[in-house]
Amino acid sequence: MNKIRLILLLGLCIFIAILSIGYVTVGMDEKQPEETETTTQQPETSTAAENSTAESSTAEETTAENTTAQTTVAQTTAQPVTMGNNYEYAYAGFNPSVAVVDSEKWNLLLVNQAYILPDGFTVKTAEVSGSSQTMDYRVVPHYNDMVAAAKADGISLIPISGYRTVERQKGNFERKIDYYETLGYSKAQATQLASKIILMPGTSEHNAGLAMDFGTDGNTSLTETFANTDAFKWLSENAADYGFILRYEKETQDITKVTYEPWHWRYVGVDAAKEIVAQGVTLEEYLGMA
Ligand SMILES: [Zn+2]
Repeated sequence: MNKIRLILLLGLCIFIAILSIGYVTVGMDEKQPEETETTTQQPETSTAAENSTAESSTAEETTAENTTAQTTVAQTTAQPVTMGNNYEYAYAGFNPSVAVVDSEKWNLLLVNQAYILPDGFTVKTAEVSGSSQTMDYRVVPHYNDMVAAAKADGISLIPISGYRTVERQKGNFERKIDYYETLGYSKAQATQLASKIILMPGTSEHNAGLAMDFGTDGNTSLTETFANTDAFKWLSENAADYGFILRYEKETQDITKVTYEPWHWRYVGVDAAKEIVAQGVTLEEYLGMA
């Protein structure tokens, strides 16, 4: 009997032990997900922390990048970036810098073969007195004063060509390229030849609304013969008083890259015009950008 009791007791102990192990095991199973969750949460928490750290550091980096970008823009003001291989006439060896458009020094904007108006450049224009020709609206009052003063002196100044869109300039330029190609020149040669006669789109002062090509009674052909007229003589003596200068002189072609154009008058403002005339320099030299 004792043996049987002992065996039963042992069996009971084993049963209890199995139950206990089972309970503990089940308990562990139940707990495990919690632990897993906790374990999972921790990485989440740390990930979140990392993310926020990452975000803030990214934000800092972005801010740093912005600052760098601003610095670059500031540097651009001093040293314009060139168009590089993206420029549509790069195949002909042209690589102009992007002209710096300064809203406060708009009258001193330099555009030429080396400095091109930025993409999307716009200018608010207005008609000049007695004509459908337009210019930058800020120039128009000075233009009107000058033409009225000339008229009072018995001189006729006829506006032949003022503001031109970049698109129109491009059409003119490409027609000239086509013309030279029909003569048998390569596209690159044709483009170089065209550039000597028509400024490339975005590099003409007419695209900026800052220049007017003048004729006068009996001479509206825009040829060098305009230099022999009373109108040219009057402009040479008086235009600076109204902020205009002769832009492309006979002796300055090496600097301006444009042939002599006695009919082309550019607004730069009265102070600059008087200084430029007094110093006998080109706009390029006056701006230190020759
Ligand atoms: Zn012109």
